[in-house]
This record gives sequence, structure tokens and C-alpha cells, in this order.
Amino acid sequence: MNSNEAPTISRGRFAMLAPRNLFAQYGNTVNVMRKAAASAKIVVKSLRNNISVLMGSGGNIAVLTGKDGKLLIDSGFAVSRTGITNALVGISPDPIKHLINTHWHVDHTDGNEWVHAAGAEILAQEKTREHLLATIRIPLWETTFLPAPAGALPTTVFDAERTVHLNGTTIVLRHYLPAHTDSDISVNFADAEVIHVGDTWWHGYYPFIDYVTGGSIDGAIRAAETNISNTTNSMIIIPGHGEVGDRSQLIEFRDMLVAIRGTVSTLKKQGRSLTDTIAAKPTAAFDAGWGGGLMSPAEFTQLVYTGV
Ligand SMILES: [Zn+2]
Repeated sequence: MNSNEAPTISRGRFAMLAPRNLFAQYGNTVNVMRKAAASAKIVVKSLRNNISVLMGSGGNIAVLTGKDGKLLIDSGFAVSRTGITNALVGISPDPIKHLINTHWHVDHTDGNEWVHAAGAEILAQEKTREHLLATIRIPLWETTFLPAPAGALPTTVFDAERTVHLNGTTIVLRHYLPAHTDSDISVNFADAEVIHVGDTWWHGYYPFIDYVTGGSIDGAIRAAETNISNTTNSMIIIPGHGEVGDRSQLIEFRDMLVAIRGTVSTLKKQGRSLTDTIAAKPTAAFDAGWGGGLMSPAEFTQLVYTGV
């Protein structure tokens, strides 16, 4: 085990801590997400100018339409191909020509292969390609990801920043310092004042943090600060998961992360074990607002404990 991997709680212990107990039914987090995507209706929301968001298949998918063809930000799960295709046809007849991945995780890249086959070039930060090419074990998800097929790989990669001109608008891609992973980017539709911040923001849910590929609670807080600095009150902000929102909600997310980090850090410094820290319910004040998603309060506590 890599020294900075999150320690895992045994399944029996975990089931006791997570009353939802979806894991016993579906096996692991990825299967939970994939199964949800398979039965989800893909919801389309028109945001501003020619930008929409598709919700329901893994991470939120942004869509820019126009004469240069459709640009998708993330590709969801492949099981949603029909639903996503129908949703895209419902927006405009433009063909799919471009795909940008916000980071390497499966709920944002599983559809890459079919989107590429449908005609899209794939652009991503270089670590997204690197991780898609590797075999990566995520202990908390009880999943080992095998190298992605050639057709799913980014066809072009960049390091720190990239500007793209498509459909009469300018799109600025920026790599975050390691945050949720080390491959996270923001995608800023500058003219429309719409930004997709990927999994640096989970709106209304405790975030997953991927310590295996460079994420950490402190990196997640730093990225939340970056998002607050780089947005204005008039911007529409697309999170990786949850409803589209605004800057005031980014601030609430940052404040939640900082508060829980502080509480967990204090408990750990007092010498409490992970089990005792979880039992102390350091997230209790936030659970009603943030605890109903993929990451249970116990799992999120574990993720924070790992990094403090
Ligand atoms: Zn992610």
C-alpha cells in the first residue's frame, strides 16, 4: 500500500457506519454510480448563450453548441450513451466534435470511447491521460481501474493552461494545483460567464477526495479558494456533482471543508484513532446539508482524517 493511500475500513465495519448500505447490494461505489446512471433520466438544463448541462450520468456534462460542432465537458458513464445521445439531439443537430475531460475519474470519462467514435477529439490535462493509461486501485471504492482502451484516451493534452476558440467563443482551461486529484482542470466559458469546475466542487454533497492520484483535503480547500477567487457573483458555476450554482454556494462549500478539517485535525492531534474520530461525529453539524450523497459522513471523515 502506498503510504498516502486512504486507509480502508473493513466492509463489515463500514456497513455498520453507513445505514444506506448500498455497498452490500451493488458491490462498490463505482457500481453504485454506474447502476444509477443506467436507470437515470438525463436532465437537460439550458444555462446561458449556447451552453447547457446534462445531469444524471456520473459527473455533470456541459455542452456548447454551434457551427464547429458540439463540445462536451466530460462524458459520463457509457451505459448512458442512448440517453445522452437523445438529450444532445434535443439541444441541436450539431455533430459531436470535441470533448474535454475535467479529470480522469470514471464517472467523467467512461463515455470517452463512444464520444470519440462519434467524432470527437479529446482534450485533457496530461495527468488525465497518464492515469487513464495506468492500473489504479482506489481502496475506498473497492475498485481497480484497468488501462482505458485507446479510443478513450485524450488525443491532445496540456500542462498548466490552454485556450480554445470554438463556436464563436473563448474557452479557457486551467489546471488546479493538486486538489480532488492531480489532474483537475476548470473550463471557463469566459464570454458567457459560465465555468465548469469539475470535482473541485460537489454542490450539496461531501466530496470524494482521491489521495491515490494526488488529492488531499488541503488541496481540496485550496481549489475551493481558487474557485472563489476566480469567479464573480454574476457567474454560473457547474459543479462536478449536484445542482448548478453560484459563488455564494462555493463559499458555503469552502467553509464546510475548513470547519470539518479543523474538527478532525483536533481529534487526530488528541490521539484519536480513525474509528474513534468517526464515532465522535465531527461532521454532525453539516450532515443534514451535505451527507446525503455518494460520500457518507463516515467516509468523508475518513478522507479528511487521512490528510491532517
Ligand atoms: Zn472525481
